[in-house]
Amino acid sequence: MFSPQQDVELGKRAALDAARQLPGCNAPKVDAYLTQLGLCLASKLPTGSVQYPFEFHCVNDKAINAFALPGGYVFINRGAIEASDNEGQLAAVMAHELSHVALRHGTNQVTKAQWAQGFLGIASGVFGGSTGGTLLTELGAFAAGGVLLRYSRTAESQADVMGTQVLYDSGYDPRAMAQFFEKLEAETKGKNPPEFLSDHPNPEHRVERALPVVKKPAPGAPEAAAAPALPSGDFAEYQANSYNVKYPDNWKKYPDSNGGGVSFAPEGGILDDGSGHAALAYGLIVSVTPIQGNASDSNALENGTRQVLQDLQKANPNMKIQRQGERVRLNGQPGVSTYLTNDSPAGGLETDWVITVLRPEGSYDKTFSSILDSVRFKK
Ligand SMILES: [Zn+2]
Repeated sequence: MFSPQQDVELGKRAALDAARQLPGCNAPKVDAYLTQLGLCLASKLPTGSVQYPFEFHCVNDKAINAFALPGGYVFINRGAIEASDNEGQLAAVMAHELSHVALRHGTNQVTKAQWAQGFLGIASGVFGGSTGGTLLTELGAFAAGGVLLRYSRTAESQADVMGTQVLYDSGYDPRAMAQFFEKLEAETKGKNPPEFLSDHPNPEHRVERALPVVKKPAPGAPEAAAAPALPSGDFAEYQANSYNVKYPDNWKKYPDSNGGGVSFAPEGGILDDGSGHAALAYGLIVSVTPIQGNASDSNALENGTRQVLQDLQKANPNMKIQRQGERVRLNGQPGVSTYLTNDSPAGGLETDWVITVLRPEGSYDKTFSSILDSVRFKK
């Protein structure tokens, strides 16, 4: 009975009431963080062609809960943030709530209950309305009275399944959803369950239900939402001036315009970093970097590696070194292996594996030698 546009209209009115009546966190940084994370997740949410005006608000309430109003207005309790062990678990809760929005459970329920005629009255009653009847200071009362927020088990399963897919497509461990609910259950054994649990039944079955769907397309998911295909086991060869390298034959090559370097990536592996620049989310970069110092010094490789990593961290402020300085060999030559984490342009964290190797006779020398060889003095 409702169009997506009506979802937005109804949700917007309810969200204004909710924002007025629920205690805010008064922490612009937290709201900005939730918005950034939420929009990342929302970009992987299958909404058909519907554009929702997603909003994310922190609620200063220690109860572990979150809810989403029709149209994409998401409220996350401080308690849900504090109960998360890592970003993936918080993302899981948000992905679940966003899925209720995409699946349009809020207004679908109303449609089924044939409460359409009274819906506006119910909505303004639940959220206090502009006449200012009820003052809801506690989310418990808010959720308990919320016609919009109480979903069937089927609806909860659907939100788990879609949310898990969104989580996976956003680069998070899809098990984070189940982990969060398991942890929640363990922590609240014997106590009154937090609102989120009473709203969201059967946490112990979430793992089995949600995991098998990962990697299959979510119902109605646009192709763009899918992570790239896995690397092929067959390889193509790339020949640069000073090295040859093989790469999965379902990847494309992107040689640097200034020579020496090349990137390889699967379809969908290169994304907009949010500021209009192409960024590699999945793939491989070969790069030739001139370094300071004497190449014949005994610590030249370590010195050069440090310079490369410093340059990388300068360009990527959130890049962190996870495992440093392991000796490896690359085609018989000494190299250094470093593991890094960084913000992924696909959302969440990415892992970067960097191998550095000293090439004193690199492509620049070779090119320079060719140029020198080409010099002919005129009489
Ligand atoms: Zn739910």
